[in-house]
Amino acid sequence: MKPKNDLNFSGGPGALPECVLTQLSEALIEVPEMGLSVLGISHRSDWFAAIVSELENNIRALLGLGTHYHVLFLQGGATQQFSMIPMSLLPGHTSPAEYLHTGYWSGKAIPEAQRQGSVRVLWSGAQSGFSSLPSDAELPFSADAPYLHYVSNETVEGLQFQRVIGRNDVLRVCDMSSDFLSKPCEAEQFSLIYAHAQKNIGPAGVTVVLVRDEVIANSPAGLPGFLDYRSHASTHSNFNTPPVFAIYTVLLVSRWLINEIGGLESMDRINRQKAALLYRVLDTSDGFYRGRARLEDRSLMNITFNLPSPEMEQGFLLAAHAAGFSGLGGHRSIGGLRASIYNAMTLAAVEKLADFMTHFRRKK
Ligand SMILES: *Cc1c(COP(=O)(O)O)cnc(C)c1O
Repeated sequence: MKPKNDLNFSGGPGALPECVLTQLSEALIEVPEMGLSVLGISHRSDWFAAIVSELENNIRALLGLGTHYHVLFLQGGATQQFSMIPMSLLPGHTSPAEYLHTGYWSGKAIPEAQRQGSVRVLWSGAQSGFSSLPSDAELPFSADAPYLHYVSNETVEGLQFQRVIGRNDVLRVCDMSSDFLSKPCEAEQFSLIYAHAQKNIGPAGVTVVLVRDEVIANSPAGLPGFLDYRSHASTHSNFNTPPVFAIYTVLLVSRWLINEIGGLESMDRINRQKAALLYRVLDTSDGFYRGRARLEDRSLMNITFNLPSPEMEQGFLLAAHAAGFSGLGGHRSIGGLRASIYNAMTLAAVEKLADFMTHFRRKK
């Protein structure tokens, strides 16, 4: 049997809402108000300027962000931010930036920052196999750090911070790639938030960066233009040819979040229901399904688990594939199983997966 689009539990790129896919399929041929394919519309057109401006406003409205934040749409993925952030925030400081090493993705950000300057890893979960997140007592933040960097949701391991961490007198920088716009996030507590689109809010090719005015104002002169937030802020993300299609898709997703879902609190409520369904299957399976993450650090976006043996995990994936599910294999770095239930994954589809998992266990 072929995989079914509504049963795509991939860790990324993630599924998109069906109504967005329908609008995109029309826009590929012709955007009604333009008479042109979205793929052939100039990034210098008034139409595109209005798209960017509406999307900036939608993101501000969803997060309750003031105009002292720039909302930027950049290329290079989250990975380019791993470098752009220290290039902009580290020069001129003697004390190290503080990084948390809570899993695979925060582990990718650290060596990139080290290339640019001094970094202190404040806490690492490597010893414990990245199965839990630190408590406040384990985090001796220093007041003189140029900034703190952490990942709000570790996509690979399925760990999610349930609180904002750090000191209020040190800049907070956060990679929210895999839980951005999945819930309210106290955005104004952060000096810089970044999130690529391809997990929760769109296709690969665009990364949203929310950055406070003063961070840009204080960043060093002389950076390569493309890697300088100033270039993108002063041009409303039109410094060079931006990914018009990807940005348009994120706009459609933001409209869906506002008009169909009713904002981030409603989105959060739905996401919590979805996660609770799957965690209940794990927790009532008499140890057949073993959740990877410590209970209090469990992610609402990525449910990671193991079966009693790798052979059984293979059997699970084959049976799931035959039933139309896809994307349930764990990340190649750690294996196991992972169900990613980003915003666009419906409650009905998660119910189907929960039923499938319950039946699979009974058969074994
Ligand atoms: C997937 C992921 C990344 C990698 O992003 P790219 O856009 O591929 O560079 C970075 N951070 C987190 C938290 C992720 O989930």
